[in-house]
Amino acid sequence: MRIIDPMTVIDRYAAQTPVPIYDILQDLGLGPEFRALDSDISGWIERRDDDRYAIVINANHAETRKRFTAAHELAHFIFHRDLLGDGVGDNRAYRAVNTPFANNQILPVHERQANSVAANILMPKEAVYRLQASGITDPKELAARFRVSEEAMRIRLGVPRVAAE
Ligand SMILES: [Zn+2]
Repeated sequence: MRIIDPMTVIDRYAAQTPVPIYDILQDLGLGPEFRALDSDISGWIERRDDDRYAIVINANHAETRKRFTAAHELAHFIFHRDLLGDGVGDNRAYRAVNTPFANNQILPVHERQANSVAANILMPKEAVYRLQASGITDPKELAARFRVSEEAMRIRLGVPRVAAE
């Protein structure tokens, strides 16, 4: 079996905007598979055999959410592999409750870590800086470029939405 370092693959694609997250998963042999799931489920990562995992993503969700789910599950694969067991599911809020793969090893701290890693993968610092330097500073426009939600981009930039309502 060929050992591929996930970080090498991530780095290889980091300069492409938007980051081709599904290609990254494919290169790592992780799928992805898209299935029409209950809307409360974002997706999961499941063990297929000894050392092989596959990532399943809710086909019904918006593209930006599907991409975030893909990156979030990849983060579980990279950083929590020793805790994954048969797998871990993620509900809409990226918690392993009420999902096909309940996993009490994965704690809120791991979910926060997976979210933060997912943000780093989908919005690489260098690429964000480069666009900002070229004059694109509107969070909405940056979000569109990186194909992430505006909310995710605002968190990344540290500019939370001003409450309008
Ligand atoms: Zn998760």
